Amino acid sequence: MIGAEVIQHNLLVLHTGGTIGMRPGPRGFAPSQGALLKTIAGTPQLHDPAVGVGERGGRPLFTTPPFAAGVRVRYEVLEYAPLLDSANLELSHWARLAEDLGRLHDHYDGFVVLHGTDTMVFTASALSFMLEGFAKPVVLTGAQIPLGRLRNDALGNLLGAIEIAALHPIPEVTLFFHHRLLRGNRARKHDASSLDAFDSPNLPPLATVGIHVQLNDALILPADPRPLRVRTELSPHVGSLRLYPGITGAVLENLLRPPLEGLVLETYGAGNGPERADLLALLREASTRGVLILNVTQCSRGHVRGDYQAGRALAEAGVIAGGDLTSEAAMAKLALVLGQRACSGWTRDVQVRLLQTPLRGEMSG
Ligand code: ASP
Repeated sequence: MIGAEVIQHNLLVLHTGGTIGMRPGPRGFAPSQGALLKTIAGTPQLHDPAVGVGERGGRPLFTTPPFAAGVRVRYEVLEYAPLLDSANLELSHWARLAEDLGRLHDHYDGFVVLHGTDTMVFTASALSFMLEGFAKPVVLTGAQIPLGRLRNDALGNLLGAIEIAALHPIPEVTLFFHHRLLRGNRARKHDASSLDAFDSPNLPPLATVGIHVQLNDALILPADPRPLRVRTELSPHVGSLRLYPGITGAVLENLLRPPLEGLVLETYGAGNGPERADLLALLREASTRGVLILNVTQCSRGHVRGDYQAGRALAEAGVIAGGDLTSEAAMAKLALVLGQRACSGWTRDVQVRLLQTPLRGEMSG
């Protein structure tokens, strides 16, 4: 209790790194342990100075000013060590994050993940598949300018993510950035300079934050009804290839060699590729060996269809149509589906069916 007010919401903020908490160093911006926590403590919109910074389980506990009468959000911050530029993220970091979220699922109303923007959509996609049966909101956010800078986008992004996770809980893995809440496995980083860094080309935002928070109810998924299970087994042997005119058989042959287990093939337009016998034979041979080759379009919008002979030829060579998956979501889904082979005994037929079935809203059905 703070005076007569009732604190209604408890969140956990998991800080993995990224520009939001970076400081300039001799070789450019880099993560700085503890810097974000200090800035949050001194930012009145993020922590009410009238309330002392608390502590729970060794983690700092912050309290926002009221969003509305009597409605504050309390949030602990779990800061990972070392903090990372998200360009340095590995599959082991996803596993740790997913395990922590699974372990702490029942202790909080929702979760905010602070993350660098560079690989945020890969992580959002991976978490959406790894966190089976997760019934709480997981909102990823970050910034193009650190919170410690006078003019920044970090404050709006962090406050918006906290507000959405606490007051408009959507039981999905989402990404909040520049006033919009996007489904995490549909988002893409489309701008390296603008503060409007992400879009979701094949699915409208789940919510927009203007004067009011406007939810797009028709798009929000019901809570995943499966029992909670965190799937951390991912194959690291996945790759991607953006087709280009004149690609040689030797290049493709090398890429398809073991240890490759899965390939995201970024094709032209509605899923087309060259009808060259040498390339098609290599694709057929690899897919017969068990390599999963998933066809996604190079275009930023639209999906793989079987309208053209040049697309059918790929399908006949064993290439799997990936609908309107983004290439980032396709990579994460392939890694997960391949990783389950040993532990869940999924056969190729099951894997192909799962790749072509929406698991958490990542593709249009
Ligand atoms: N390189 C940074 C990162 O991804 C960029 C950012 O956060 O905006 O960690």
